[in-house]
Amino acid sequence: MNNLKPLTIVGLLLIGQQAFSQYETSWDNAEQSINQISEHVYRWGGGAMGGISGLFVPTSEGIVVIDGPGNPCTPDSGQWFKDELEQRYDVPVRYVVLSHDHQSHICGTTVFADTAVAIGHKKLRPHLIREGRVSPIPTVSFEESLDIDLGGVKVVLHYFGPTHSDNLIVTHIPQDGVLFVPDLSRPDGQLPNPDFRDMDVDSTIEVLGILARMDDVDIVVPGHNSPVADQSYFRRYRAYLASMREQVLTHMVEGRSLEEIHGLVTMDDFGDYTNLEQVLERNVTTMYDYLYRYREPNSPGGLPIRAL
Ligand SMILES: [Zn+2]
Repeated sequence: MNNLKPLTIVGLLLIGQQAFSQYETSWDNAEQSINQISEHVYRWGGGAMGGISGLFVPTSEGIVVIDGPGNPCTPDSGQWFKDELEQRYDVPVRYVVLSHDHQSHICGTTVFADTAVAIGHKKLRPHLIREGRVSPIPTVSFEESLDIDLGGVKVVLHYFGPTHSDNLIVTHIPQDGVLFVPDLSRPDGQLPNPDFRDMDVDSTIEVLGILARMDDVDIVVPGHNSPVADQSYFRRYRAYLASMREQVLTHMVEGRSLEEIHGLVTMDDFGDYTNLEQVLERNVTTMYDYLYRYREPNSPGGLPIRAL
């Protein structure tokens, strides 16, 4: 029996790869385009619309749009996408799901206000209003999870706690094995966040573990222009965040300054991230800032954050 188990796992993996091989998993962003990524799920964007940011799920009873075209951000930046949907389908957009409040993800979704109900996490609304986002204000919000059942397709929205913003939700289409996780994923070898602004680092480490263990996930779809990844991405990024947190915290407890910590935390074990050099300094600075507000040093020893 022991010999059979690995063979069974390999067999399942091959079936999964074959199932997705008929769909596109990476895109040429030079052209505006719509791409099918699984039986029920599509992505769009590129060209004048900037990066491919969101998804849509067309069904016989209507369309679910998840996020907008992003950049450049104007009130009608989703018009091309809306026109395309009207040409392709004889049903309207019924729901617009807003993954989180950041402008580059939700801009352009206002063009669907004539037919769609906007949905987001309950903490989304004050950010949209305060920042003046170009976005509909959700009339449906939820705390932990929400199911959208439309035309035989189930779209499940989950909130696992504060991560990248206090209102980021993930969108799961279980029957297709698709999980949309903007800004906490990228393709393998790329760190997703230039710095840790608007991030609860400890909760993010926990949530990355939850995302890595979710069932019915074959492909992970990042936001922006990225090809898809899989759940191993979450395990690797979780290890990176946890390692940096531990190193920076240890140095802070030992009384080192931010300047000294910059010289000590090099993250050599994560050199496979191609953008590590580009983001390392800001990652360390903002991790220090996060942990500065996490602890109280023994006095006298508390150095102000501007001690550089
Ligand atoms: Zn974001």
